[in-house]
Amino acid sequence: MKRLIFPLLLISLISCKGTDKRQKTVNEKPVNTVQVPVFNADSAYVFVKKQVDFGSRVPQTPAHKACLEYLKQMLEKYGADVTVQNGSGQLYDGKSVEIKNIIGSFNSEATNRILLCSHWDTRPFADQDKDYSKRENPILGANDGASGVGVLLEVARNLQKLPQNLGIDIIFFDVEDYGVPEFYMGNHDADTWCLGSTYWAKNPHKSGYKANYGILLDMVGASAATFYQEYYSLDYARNIVENVWNTAQELGFEAYFIARQGGAIMDDHLPINRFLKIPCIDIIQLDKNSSTGFAQYWHTMDDNVNNIDKNTLYAVGTTILHMVYK
Ligand SMILES: [Zn+2]
Repeated sequence: MKRLIFPLLLISLISCKGTDKRQKTVNEKPVNTVQVPVFNADSAYVFVKKQVDFGSRVPQTPAHKACLEYLKQMLEKYGADVTVQNGSGQLYDGKSVEIKNIIGSFNSEATNRILLCSHWDTRPFADQDKDYSKRENPILGANDGASGVGVLLEVARNLQKLPQNLGIDIIFFDVEDYGVPEFYMGNHDADTWCLGSTYWAKNPHKSGYKANYGILLDMVGASAATFYQEYYSLDYARNIVENVWNTAQELGFEAYFIARQGGAIMDDHLPINRFLKIPCIDIIQLDKNSSTGFAQYWHTMDDNVNNIDKNTLYAVGTTILHMVYK
């Protein structure tokens, strides 16, 4: 990930506003005649574990390659037209890196589209680990990477009854998490994160690509996760943020989706907003009690499947399915 650019913004004003809107929405809820499929958290968990079982999915490694084939096959199995976009980027140390963005399109011809995305690569360095001897080891990325992809594969499995006039693009971005490590002392560019999404946003797989809005999932599987409203998401796409948080709260997931502003995160939604001008939000776990802004196992050797909680996958996945089908 993901630099926390400025940790604590926020403000009670926003939470008050959020509450008013929430009550209003509940009172004025329109009649929903569409049958929303049930998100199966067991299935999502299997999709997360399967990725972790490949090992760390660091770009240009055999585990990364094997996982690419798996993700491609799964999207195809659930009926998507799949494109693997090949690109390249420059790492913090000046070396070049291959990029493989995996794009699964449902109802490819529909002009009314929603973009759902997550990163599928994992960080090559556990540079936040308390044990300094492990800081150059790659992480397993059960939550940071695999959780978002797992939720979206389960969403994909539930897109069989999508109305024909609605298109969904599920994109798994590569090379999100290869940003400059804490221990690196050399000079580097300012932007070393999010290389796959930046490449796609500047070179979309279809020229003139448009979507009504986008939702990025990042670290959406940990037990008792809290999703605050991320700063850039509010800045670029406040109505989508409010829609998602209201939907989650109507579904009873208010313990996860907290209608207060969190920090500002450098993540894959930023290039999408900046270069493609598609309003895109980030659902990402933020921990107000941690010095980094993230959970304790973020970018450590502890980001393994033991931290994945099916209840959290269910809350996020169910909210996404309701956003898609409502
Ligand atoms: Zn990360």
